[in-house]
Amino acid sequence: MKRRKFIKSASLGGVAVGLSATVLACNDSEIKEIAKKETTKEPIWPIVIATWNVHRATQETWDAMQAGHQVLDAVEAGCKIEEADPKGQSVGKGGLPDRDGNVTLDACIMDHLGNCGSVVYLQNITHAITVAKSVMQDTPHVMLAGKGAEDYALSIGLKRENLLTEASKKAWEKWKEEAEYKPIINIENHDTIGLLAIDKDGTISGGCTTSGLAYKMGGRVGDSPIIGSGLFVDNEVGAAVATGMGEEVVKTVGSFLIVELMRQGMSPQQACEEAISRIVNKPGKNYEDFQVGYVAVNKKGETGYYSIHDGFWATIYADGENKNYASSFFNKK
Ligand code: ASP
Repeated sequence: MKRRKFIKSASLGGVAVGLSATVLACNDSEIKEIAKKETTKEPIWPIVIATWNVHRATQETWDAMQAGHQVLDAVEAGCKIEEADPKGQSVGKGGLPDRDGNVTLDACIMDHLGNCGSVVYLQNITHAITVAKSVMQDTPHVMLAGKGAEDYALSIGLKRENLLTEASKKAWEKWKEEAEYKPIINIENHDTIGLLAIDKDGTISGGCTTSGLAYKMGGRVGDSPIIGSGLFVDNEVGAAVATGMGEEVVKTVGSFLIVELMRQGMSPQQACEEAISRIVNKPGKNYEDFQVGYVAVNKKGETGYYSIHDGFWATIYADGENKNYASSFFNKK
């Protein structure tokens, strides 16, 4: 399918000048309505955008939407692809463990009505995103943690599994040979999947799932299950999702910030860049040691992605094309 041809939009100023004769005969709200129509582009729906190179996940989400599934379920289906892949060492099965050898998962999901669900410090269950969705839909709560989250997962029919694969165990054992028992920050250790989708009717949902920072302290929870930090969806405005050093995302409430900046008129790209600038311009400027990346989409289906360092990617499925895009980044050295 070819890229859509967009209606050429006039700027608000241009509209006012070009329509001055008509405008003279209109009241204020009619003028605003004319300007709005002239400046509105055809929306790029459906669309899927995700953190990193996850074309199988975006494909799954796209296909699920094409098959008529609800966008929330399509987002879950996409996230599950990465969770089930034992080769992915940062999500679900095969995720790198904490420093004690425990794989602990964080995930959250949010729909177009502002409903959300999340799980933190979940063990022995591959599909954290499914548990998060069920917390949202089937319980009066937003967040379940640890043993309670695991018990809940079992109660809805999910099976206990050993998430520590041989490869991840080996990597952890190697890490233990040299690592000091203190928090480490390493830009290689991040790979959360955050996935946002808009269906053909403009309904937005998003999900985020991770095994968190590799070799984290036992009990550590990152940004990924925290609504507003790791993920935020507002069906009127758009959505954003984060990856990277969760502590920095939490401190700046990154995803909510991006959505609010878009509400105030920024493009998704500008909003992602501003959210990164809030991190890198903090006193101390210690961003050399960690990576943060954001992806965002607005209600029109326009996308943005930006990171602190080189090496971040976004995957976008739009207009029938599923592609990876290298992100621009702040630290040009
Ligand atoms: N944001 C995740 C966390 O801090 C890590 C990641 O993106 O890989 O737990």
